[in-house]
Amino acid sequence: MLHPDTELRTINPRIGCGIFATADIPRGTIVYAKDAMEIIVFEEDMLYRDKKYREHIKKYSYTEADGSKVLSWDLAKYVNHACDSNTLSTGYGFEIAVRDIVKGEQITDDYGMLNIECMMSCECGSLFCRKNIGVNDFATSVDNWDRRVQAAIDCLPDVAQPLLGYLNGETRSLLEGYLVGSHDYRSVSELERRISQNIA
Ligand SMILES: [Zn+2]
Repeated sequence: MLHPDTELRTINPRIGCGIFATADIPRGTIVYAKDAMEIIVFEEDMLYRDKKYREHIKKYSYTEADGSKVLSWDLAKYVNHACDSNTLSTGYGFEIAVRDIVKGEQITDDYGMLNIECMMSCECGSLFCRKNIGVNDFATSVDNWDRRVQAAIDCLPDVAQPLLGYLNGETRSLLEGYLVGSHDYRSVSELERRISQNIA
């Protein structure tokens, strides 16, 4: 579920649509939460094996460490990539604002954290543009992501959190444990897809 202070706008024919803030969203705000209404699809599912559905799933879903594809039921699937994005995924499965987002600003995240299958060329215009986004980004970017995400999570208790109630119980417990000092920080490296080690 996407933060309520957002809306879908058409950008241009080349980029298509994007999500924009309709109010200021401060650093530390949960901007996306994987809620109980998300559509979860595995590659072995009949739905994914049906080519006419697979193309839509691949375009609009993100992939978790267990290989499941998460297709958002709301506008979250329209968030665009930027190499210097204003939100990042966390090791807790939600996305967080890693800097203050002002009203009217486009909400962006980093597709390098979403286990995309093919390299994607990028022209986001950032000074930090990696030009190619894909499977190797965890190896090169995880420390940078963790530094920004952990700093944002440390701000989480101090800002309004309309999506906090949509986190599942386990995620909320891990997060609250970190915030009170009883659990270690959960690295974004937890998001990287684990390739099955099963040998036939
Ligand atoms: Zn870029």
